[in-house]
Amino acid sequence: EPQKIVLNVNGIEVIYNHVILVLKGVSLQVPEGKIVAILGGNGAGKTTTLRAISNLLQGERGAVTKGSIELRGERIENLSPADLVQRGVVQVMEGRHCFAHLTIEENLMTGAYTRTSKAEIAANLEKVYNYFPRLKTRRASQAAYTSGGEQQMCAIGRAIMTNPSMVLLDEPSMGLAPQIVEEVFNIVKDLNTKEKVTFLLAEQNTNMALKYSDYGYIMESGRVVMDGIASDLANNEDVKEFYLGVG
Ligand code: ATP
Repeated sequence: EPQKIVLNVNGIEVIYNHVILVLKGVSLQVPEGKIVAILGGNGAGKTTTLRAISNLLQGERGAVTKGSIELRGERIENLSPADLVQRGVVQVMEGRHCFAHLTIEENLMTGAYTRTSKAEIAANLEKVYNYFPRLKTRRASQAAYTSGGEQQMCAIGRAIMTNPSMVLLDEPSMGLAPQIVEEVFNIVKDLNTKEKVTFLLAEQNTNMALKYSDYGYIMESGRVVMDGIASDLANNEDVKEFYLGVG
């Protein structure tokens, strides 16, 4: 069956502080219902790519200076992050796990700020607890006193509270023990399979990302240098030599 492309990034250039060219013509496609990974080392441009898509560059003094970004055929370069949430696209930022002084449940509820129906919000919260049983156990704990894994789950759970069709996930494995990374990725896969949420994730942990993704793009110095079906990339000799075992 033909794949429906939800997100089409077409030759984007990003410049920081008016001078530093960081993305040098990046193109990628995200098909509906898939998990797509952007891979590559430190500074390759993964985070910048996600920020460009969700229009979070401004605060970093960055701008898209060339190319286009389309969501289901609509140009989105000028839409605010809030506009994107309304269109079903939400970003989970790297390391910005949770509001430290709020409880896990309060954090999750901040994800429902655009919603009005109390019944829907309650149902959504139960759904999140269903996928993240750890969060249910910790619902009344202040986020600051939960583990790194629980905080990452909380950040993803908060995104799920916006009822998204697509989640941009920046470095979900960062700072987590391998077993917890696996737990987080399993939940991502579960949300993808059962809730049909499309994921675009940025990861330095190539092994783990390729294991759970359908397709991968490898970036180096602001360019996509290779892309392919995840299992093909995982078996590719160059990928094995240069990227596997990293992270
Ligand atoms: P990491 O995994 O370390 O986040 P990355 O692949 O996500 O790496 P980016 O964070 O997108 O890479 O960074 C790409 C390049 O842009 C790097 O050279 C970085 O130093 C530069 N950069 C990132 N943010 C800014 C900024 N706000 N101002 C100037 N340069 C920046």
